[in-house]
Amino acid sequence: MRPTVLCFSGLDPSGGAGLQADIEAIGQSGAHAAIACTALTIQNSQQVFGFEATSRELLLAQAHAVVNDLPIKCVKSGMLGTTENIAALADFLTEHPDYLYVLDPVLVANSGGSLGNQETLVEAFIELIPLATVITPNTVELRALTGMEDLDQATNKLFQMGAKAVLVKGGHEDTPEYIRNALYINGEFISETRCPRLDGEYHGSGCSLASFIAGRLAQGDQLTQAVHHAETWLLGVLKKAETPVPNGQKIPKRF
Ligand code: PLP
Repeated sequence: MRPTVLCFSGLDPSGGAGLQADIEAIGQSGAHAAIACTALTIQNSQQVFGFEATSRELLLAQAHAVVNDLPIKCVKSGMLGTTENIAALADFLTEHPDYLYVLDPVLVANSGGSLGNQETLVEAFIELIPLATVITPNTVELRALTGMEDLDQATNKLFQMGAKAVLVKGGHEDTPEYIRNALYINGEFISETRCPRLDGEYHGSGCSLASFIAGRLAQGDQLTQAVHHAETWLLGVLKKAETPVPNGQKIPKRF
């Protein structure tokens, strides 16, 4: 059986982001995706209308059901929704220290809609940061997690908080021609990529990137290799993305 990534992520009915993005990206990376569903959201490609989070008990029961059933090599988290679910995941990872772990610190949807109480989520993420093999914040999330405006200072702060590796995604920065992603390991700058900035807004691009990284890590890639593979793959699927309605965010065509 293919190495498995167990994703803690939410359902997005539009199929652009959340657990569907995870399943498609991990499948494309060559690994198998399993899901412990954290929340059911109500949203489309344009906006988030609300969500209902899974209880701690139900979330952990889903994860425990597959632990001895599938060859899990890596955990990936996206929307967690509540501080209880963040604490549940921290407990689960502490029980399984051999799992690699990709932490995508989702706070809000790309459309701007709330996926939880940002202030309390930021507090709770502190527990997950040291458990992650790599954290993949965009610059908005990086600033929110650290309370620092300057990106170098914010990245250093994340390492002081116990991070092992950080991929800073620059899609929200004011660089009209390109998007710069920068990878840091153990506090050291390792590499950067500059991808052309494509027109429009994309739904689920962050989920897709983090999940593809998790899929490659599960199959034995080193982190730098996994990130490189994922960035190259993501650019391809964003170029092929489909526009559902004129005001909607584009949905990556992951296969
Ligand atoms: N997870 C869920 C369930 C979501 O609905 C969203 C955004 O809508 C995300 C994660 C984050 O999506 P993105 O990859 O666009 O940041």
